[in-house]
Amino acid sequence: KKYVYLFNEGDANMRNLLGGKGANLAEMSKLGMPVPNGFTITTEACNKYYEDDEVINDEIKAQIMEYLAKLEEETGKKFGDAENPLLVSVRSGARASMPGMMDTILNLGINDVVAETIAEKSGNPRFAYDSYRRFIQMFADVVKGLSKKRFEEIIDELKAERGIKDDLELTADDMKTLVERFKEFYRTGLGEDFPTDPKQQMMEAIEAVFRSWNNDRAIYYRRMNDIPGDWGTAVNVQMMVFGNMGEDCGTGVAFTRNPATGENKLYGEFLMNAQGEDVVAGVRTPKKIDQLKEVSPTAYDQFVDICSKLENHYKNMQDMEFTIENGKLFMLQTRNGKRTAQAALKIACDMVDEGLINTDEALMMVEPQQLDSLLHPMFDADALAAAEAVTSALPASPGAGSGQIVFSAEEAKEEAEKGKKVILVRLETSPEDIEGMAVSQGILTVRGGMTSHAAVVARGMGACCVSGAGDIEMHDDEGYFVIGDKKFNRGDWISIDGSTGNVYGEAIKTVPATISGDFERFMKWADDRRRLKIRTNADTPRDAAQAVAFGAEGIGLVRTEHMFFEGDKIKAIREMIVAKTDDQMKAALDKLEPMQQKDFEGIYEAMEGRPVTIRYLDPPLHEFVPTNPDDIKELAREMNIGEDELNQVISNLHEVNPMMGHRGSRLAVSNPGIAKMQTAAVIKAALNVNKAHPEWNIVPEIMLPLIGDLAELKYVKKIVTTTADEIIKEAGSDMKYHVGTMIEVPRAALLADEIAKEAEFFSFGTNDLTQLTFGFSRDDAGKFLPQYYSAKIYENDPFARLDQNGVGKLVEMAANLGRQTRPDIKLGVCGEHGGDPASIHFVDKMGLNYVSCSPYRVPIARLAAAQATI
Ligand code: PEP
Ligand code: MG
Repeated sequence: KKYVYLFNEGDANMRNLLGGKGANLAEMSKLGMPVPNGFTITTEACNKYYEDDEVINDEIKAQIMEYLAKLEEETGKKFGDAENPLLVSVRSGARASMPGMMDTILNLGINDVVAETIAEKSGNPRFAYDSYRRFIQMFADVVKGLSKKRFEEIIDELKAERGIKDDLELTADDMKTLVERFKEFYRTGLGEDFPTDPKQQMMEAIEAVFRSWNNDRAIYYRRMNDIPGDWGTAVNVQMMVFGNMGEDCGTGVAFTRNPATGENKLYGEFLMNAQGEDVVAGVRTPKKIDQLKEVSPTAYDQFVDICSKLENHYKNMQDMEFTIENGKLFMLQTRNGKRTAQAALKIACDMVDEGLINTDEALMMVEPQQLDSLLHPMFDADALAAAEAVTSALPASPGAGSGQIVFSAEEAKEEAEKGKKVILVRLETSPEDIEGMAVSQGILTVRGGMTSHAAVVARGMGACCVSGAGDIEMHDDEGYFVIGDKKFNRGDWISIDGSTGNVYGEAIKTVPATISGDFERFMKWADDRRRLKIRTNADTPRDAAQAVAFGAEGIGLVRTEHMFFEGDKIKAIREMIVAKTDDQMKAALDKLEPMQQKDFEGIYEAMEGRPVTIRYLDPPLHEFVPTNPDDIKELAREMNIGEDELNQVISNLHEVNPMMGHRGSRLAVSNPGIAKMQTAAVIKAALNVNKAHPEWNIVPEIMLPLIGDLAELKYVKKIVTTTADEIIKEAGSDMKYHVGTMIEVPRAALLADEIAKEAEFFSFGTNDLTQLTFGFSRDDAGKFLPQYYSAKIYENDPFARLDQNGVGKLVEMAANLGRQTRPDIKLGVCGEHGGDPASIHFVDKMGLNYVSCSPYRVPIARLAAAQATI
């Protein structure tokens, strides 16, 4: 089997095998662009490495050596040669780009002999020994896991001895000293010498890159971005070109369009006399790409030309890395650039207008999940105008962030877990900060440019980020920072505006988002394309109206018990739950009915005639029973019974397993009055609203939860129809209504053909269906599921992404059985999965009629449903 490919043997279509970076390097070589020679070790080799219990087998090793020889031949250089030494970079490159999550090693191939040769040949011994000491540092960290910190200390110690402050003041001899001291630390730290054989260096580096596929941050990033763990990473071994050999050398990163706004203008940064990692690591603040025109005009013109060729070729915005060695341009990478949601929409619309892509291609260019960042609150324009910025820096990723200052990722996580809003303020961020970034309202960095990891990662996750705020004087160890004469302590409120780069020393009010402009136009394309209808899960008129503004076509689930979470209403439902006598029950229901009716009227009005499915009470009792002594006292008074008696009732209500307890239609079986009351409320509300708005022609959809048997459904349905028919008749109306059921107990899925005899529609309650199929509680599984991810038993949370193999099979079976009995049965999903793009794909293929999700996921579902059809 072929495990290694020269760059000129591959192309962009071989992404799965060569990884994104490898495939695109191959493609650029094929297009005749200046790419340093190299080869790619395939993702299959990585997977084999893991299959073989983390060893690179002899066959793969032999192929790597064979291709190294070819590379030496192509370049005319040789590993470890005293005349013309070959140095390489060893870089990861998975199928999907995972910026900064895995490892990279540069300058590989240096040893004492080679360093001396480079010193002589380049006439620049400082450069030679600087490269050498960087290599030792990187190798020790990445391959051997030695602490980076100690290396920095060794540098600081030498600077102190020499009485200098700046790294740039270190001479060639100093660099040589550092090499010796680094090697010494390597030897004492690891009990072995730093390897002088470049082949050994390379093999160990390759293995380290394979290993980095499974480091913590890569695993976290994959879970966040739905990248399967079995893809593996490829490894690219490429001849080094040097951006740090002198003033006619440099390195940079650029996007063909602005990744924050989408503006169609080359956007990027570079540093002269620097090595690649210096730009992206955000350690030095780089210059704007336009300025390259003055510094290196030939390279600049050639680069601009390549950019436009690449964008036309890939029909997508490109993110590129380049190096200039002695005035000559080399391309080191191109990939589809990460961008903000705002930029993604603008680029998609612009490219359609430019005739570069069609609307289907445009729809596929935007990640549904990404739209989320556009739906969250923005700063209130007036409040923003009234606030005064304390400093301004690079608008690295848009959004409105207000929160309390924290200084580390760990702190961010701790505070966020307590429910606090935080802004993570860092000197510079490193990929290890990713979890802390994910829980923050925004990220503010002192160093780094628009293309630093902080910026790229923040954009990817839709978090707002302001970077390169050089005015900030950091004292994070002491828990504060200073801007001008203002001091900001840990815990103080600040706000950052990722669209302007402004930083404010206070919390600023926010307002809800709207869909307009490019967003609106794009969503229209999605609506024209999709087959699935998108409904929403909403329990209040306010949520319903928000969902309609986001494009919901109806409500798929009103959880009637949620209406009682608000204000004083909880008391009424508690009375119902603890009622022991018929009189107590009647008193409680009489209080509840008008409240319910009013709530339903509000929802019908907000939905303006769109379909609304009202689900009957399904209160997990444990969530509603009072536990606090004051509440119990008050409830006893209200119900006119003794406190002790009430306590007794409450303790009788206790269930060992409430999620499998007295819920859903089981309540209606034991207390038919509840279903009667709800039916009266639904029907009366619909009659009333229809009277005011005959044009809406509301047809109530009544949904019975947690049904497991046809006889059970019949029993409860009978209560509903008797009550409804009587009220409708009394009102002299001919209003129609539908009665359907949730499919959320596995038994109902198994017997769906029978259930469909009485149910006019099915709505899959995939939350309970998942809980009951897996047999673990949706309330508690979060405690042990993480261990299932790390043990690679499950890759995702089955409550977030539908388990297609198991639960999905039940859904498909029930859908088919239901259609057998009732060919026009309406089928939908109203569990949380209704807003998950992968699950939407799955149910689209099954031909269901709609999905229903929370209001903020409606636009995501609209786009995912469109993509499912392309
Ligand atoms: C479900 O179980 O999927 C569902 C939508 O109902 P609930 O979440 O209210 O139990
Ligand atoms: Mg349920």
